[in-house]
Amino acid sequence: MSATNSPRSLHDLPFPALEEALTRADVRPIHTRALWRALHREAALDLQTRADFLPPLRRWVEAHTAPGGPFFLDTPQAVADLRSTDGHTRKFLLRLRDGQTVETVLMAYPGRSTACVSTQAGCAMGCTFCATGKAGFTRHLRPGEIVAQVLHCQRILRDEGKPGLRNLVLMGMGEPLHNYDAVMTALEILTDRRGTNIGPAHVTLSTVGVIPGILRLARENSPYALALSLHAATDAERRVLIPASRRWPLADLLGACRTYCHATGRRIFIEWTLIAGVNDTPSHARQLAAALEGIAAHVNLIPLNPTAAYAGAPTASAPAQAFKGILQAAGFPSTLRQRRGIDIAAGCGQLRGALQE
Ligand code: SAH
Ligand code: SF4
Repeated sequence: MSATNSPRSLHDLPFPALEEALTRADVRPIHTRALWRALHREAALDLQTRADFLPPLRRWVEAHTAPGGPFFLDTPQAVADLRSTDGHTRKFLLRLRDGQTVETVLMAYPGRSTACVSTQAGCAMGCTFCATGKAGFTRHLRPGEIVAQVLHCQRILRDEGKPGLRNLVLMGMGEPLHNYDAVMTALEILTDRRGTNIGPAHVTLSTVGVIPGILRLARENSPYALALSLHAATDAERRVLIPASRRWPLADLLGACRTYCHATGRRIFIEWTLIAGVNDTPSHARQLAAALEGIAAHVNLIPLNPTAAYAGAPTASAPAQAFKGILQAAGFPSTLRQRRGIDIAAGCGQLRGALQE
C-alpha cells in the first residue's frame, strides 16, 4: 500500500481482504487465521503485544498498525454507559475516530444476548417520532465501525463472564439499506464462522422501506431476517410519520416485500410503533391486515417510546391488545412488546439526543 493512501481499519476487511493484505506484504496466507481470530473471535485490542503470533505476523502487525501505518483498529470509546433498572440492558454511546457518536444497545439474557447496532451517524429518513430522524443525517458508518460496536458488546459480555452474542439487530441509529454495501460487508465479517460467528438467521436487518434495497436483498437471496418498519398502511398516513416514504409508494413497497418473500422463502417482520390516536384504532388494524394480504408477515407491535421532540403518546394496553386481536383474527401472528430498557432511553437516538441537550 502506498504512503499516500489514507489508513484503513483492519475491522473493515472481510477474511479474503485481510489475507490479501498480508500476502501483499509477503506474509503467507496461513497467518490470516491467527489475526482473524484475535480480531473477531477474541475481540482483541492489543495486537502489538501478542505472544501467540508467529514472528512474520508479529512483524507485519508492528509495521502496519503502528501510528502512521497503513492500518488501524476501530476502538470506539464509550462516552456513556447506562444500565436499565431491570439489569438486562446496557446502552452505550460510542465515540468514533472523528468524534461522531453512535448508540449501541446490549440486551443480555442468559444464553441469548442481543446487540442492537447503528449503521449511520444520524439518519436521512426524518421519521417524526424518532430522535435520530429528528437530528438528521451526518454520515454513513464504515463496516469496521459497525463491527466494532458488536466487538464492544462481546468484550462487555466476556468481562461479565457471559457467553458471546447470539443475536444481532440493525435497529440502532440509521437506515441499514441506505448504507447497503457497508452493512453487507459488516455482516459478512460478523457471521464468519472463524470469528464472531453470529448465525445469519440470528441477524435482523430493519428498514423503513427502501425499495431498491429490499429488491437487492431478494436478488442476492440474503440469509438475514428482514424487518420492515411500516407504522401506517396508507400512503398519506405513512408520509406524515415517515417523510422519506414519499419516494416509495406503499403499493410498490408491498410488492417488493412479496418479491422478497417469494425469492428468499422467508417471512417478513413488520414493525408497527403504536401511537395513541394516530395508528392504533381497530380500523388501522384492519387496514394493515388488508395491506399484508399475500405476504408471510409477523407483526411486532411496539408502543411508542416517547421522545422530547414528538408530542405523540404510546398506545395503552387495552387498545394495543385489541389491535393485536384483529391481526390475529385475520391470520397474522403478532407480538406486543415494550422497547427494552425504556428507562435508559433505549429508543433509537434518544441517548445521544439527551446528552447533546
Ligand atoms: N432505520 C431503520 C432501523 C433503525 S430504527 C428502521 O426505521 O427500521 C429501528 C426501529 O425503532 C424502527 O422500527 C423505528 O420505527 C423504531 N423507533 C424509532 N423511534 C422510536 C420511538 N420513539 N418509539 C418506538 N419505536 C421507535
Ligand atoms: Fe431513520 Fe429508522 Fe429513525 Fe426513521 S425510524 S429516522 S428510518 S432510524
